[in-house]
Amino acid sequence: MSDSVVPTIETLQAEVLRLNKVVEALMNRDERGTDRHASAFDQFQSTVMLEELVRARTRELESALIENQAINRALREAEQKFHRVLDQSLVGITMTVDGRFQYVNPKFAEILGYTQEEMQRLGPAEITAETDRQFLNDVIVRSLAGEFKQITFTVRARRKNGEEISVEISGNEPIDIGGRPALIAVWADVTERLRAEREILALQEKLREQAFRDPLTGLYNRLFLDECLEREFARCGRTGCSLSMVIADLDFFKSVNDRYGHQAGDAALRHMAAVLSGHARASDIVCRFGGEEFLLLLPDTAASVAWQRAEDLRAALERQPVVWQAERIGITASFGVSSYPADAATQFDLIAAADTALYAAKAGGRNRVGGSARVDSASSYAGAPPASTGRRQPGSIN
Ligand code: GH3
Ligand code: MG
Ligand code: MG
Repeated sequence: MSDSVVPTIETLQAEVLRLNKVVEALMNRDERGTDRHASAFDQFQSTVMLEELVRARTRELESALIENQAINRALREAEQKFHRVLDQSLVGITMTVDGRFQYVNPKFAEILGYTQEEMQRLGPAEITAETDRQFLNDVIVRSLAGEFKQITFTVRARRKNGEEISVEISGNEPIDIGGRPALIAVWADVTERLRAEREILALQEKLREQAFRDPLTGLYNRLFLDECLEREFARCGRTGCSLSMVIADLDFFKSVNDRYGHQAGDAALRHMAAVLSGHARASDIVCRFGGEEFLLLLPDTAASVAWQRAEDLRAALERQPVVWQAERIGITASFGVSSYPADAATQFDLIAAADTALYAAKAGGRNRVGGSARVDSASSYAGAPPASTGRRQPGSIN
């Protein structure tokens, strides 16, 4: 056919029918034509011409019919291939028109636990968990308004058996299906993936936490302290605030181990950690600095305040013995206090200054607080043993 528009089978059949009727009408006219005085030759000539016209037209129609059948076959094959792809897809695919699933592929039905037929009586709202229904509805309204070229989001969906799952939905602009806007979406069940991601995050957080914690006391370790010190020093440099440090070292701790055993020593370390944590403010960083050495970082704390806090800790420790099995083991500690900017300009100098103050406290007789900001009026030495650097046994006060 010369026409570029390919006729349908129905139009071709109607055309053949119409031509047949024309021929029939002409034949009838020929029969009646004698009383219209037309010459026999004229009638013969027009009949031959008409027959030729009909034959030519019939040939055209026949080839158009063949062309049409070939196109239909190609369309059917393309559709079959297309369906095979949809059937084998590992993700759910849906076409939604007027809030109903007009088409769902087998994977989508499987994800939601329905049959494909059952799904066609449902729409996106019915399979979405109540908590996310309004959100999904908003996305659909905005998609239909052509607001998104492409959009991907996650909602909670409810399976036929009531189980809730997480689905990731990807959609595009609406397309026109028979004059109605249709939304095509790709759905993936991401429940397992999200759960695994949450577990990995929790594990990473736990590992991070463990990396910064001392396993015996649960306090922060030196690694964490190094990070904090750097950060706090940078902050103090910016804001001009003060930063204080207290290093505490148990007195004659080796004797605790020697007399009561290593486990009792561990209990004493945990006891010390509990006393320090119990007196800490939210902004304080409490660390186990080494074997029986502890360090407190006190942000925004002036030297004299830090010194008083160390003194309070010293007194608290002296008051509370370690309870170990049937024993009550009295322990004390010496403290060294330093402050930025009063005693040091760098984080290393701050530690060194606190160490020097601690050494002075040990040398001064232990169970005391050393540091340049020592408040003489405070009762730092009240109840403290007489100044002595010699070793003594820790006292059982049981
Ligand atoms: P000083 O008053 O001069 O500080 O004397 P000290 O005995 O406390 O100090 P020294 O440095 O001589 O001994 C520290 C002891 O701490 C030695 C070590 O066995 C003990 N220690 C270190 N880490 C641990 C631990 O994790 N558990 C136990 N039980 N003991 C520890
Ligand atoms: Mg020590
Ligand atoms: Mg010690």
